[in-house]
Amino acid sequence: MILKQGDWLYKKEHYADVVVVGSGAAGTALATKCAAFGLSVIVLEGGERDYSETSQDCYSGESEGISLPYGLKNSRLRFYGGSTNCWAGGCGVLNK
Ligand SMILES: Cc1cc2nc3c(=O)[nH]c(=O)nc-3n(C[C@H](O)[C@H](O)[C@H](O)COP(=O)(O)OP(=O)(O)OC[C@H]3O[C@@H](n4cnc5c(N)ncnc54)[C@H](O)[C@@H]3O)c2cc1C
Repeated sequence: MILKQGDWLYKKEHYADVVVVGSGAAGTALATKCAAFGLSVIVLEGGERDYSETSQDCYSGESEGISLPYGLKNSRLRFYGGSTNCWAGGCGVLNK
């Protein structure tokens, strides 16, 4: 179940075994694993269901010293799924 902020405000109290902040690869993997162990999970996502300029503007800023190909604002994505929404298909090899 996905609740928008407006719907969420009408519910006074929420209980869960685990609260995960962020719905990117890390948060979603953690939440899924916790749910598989039978734990109740709430995932809090700062952005909206889909991309919006208003939400993404929160990441606006200047980067000094490091040249970022997508600029600071677009180097991470602030909506459901996080930066996995712009994953370019590259996979690193895990060293043993
Ligand atoms: C253009 C681009 C291309 C990429 N290509 C590749 C690739 O080819 N291969 C690869 O392995 N990696 C790639 N990456 C990197 C990969 O996308 C990230 O490493 C990965 O998505 C990080 O996952 P994460 O869950 O740690 O963070 P994120 O995906 O950034 O998720 C964090 C989530 O938390 C939310 N959030 C942040 N703060 C709060 C808060 N205070 N409260 C609530 N919610 C919050 C954000 O809105 C976001 O949804 C790429 C990244 C970019 C930007």
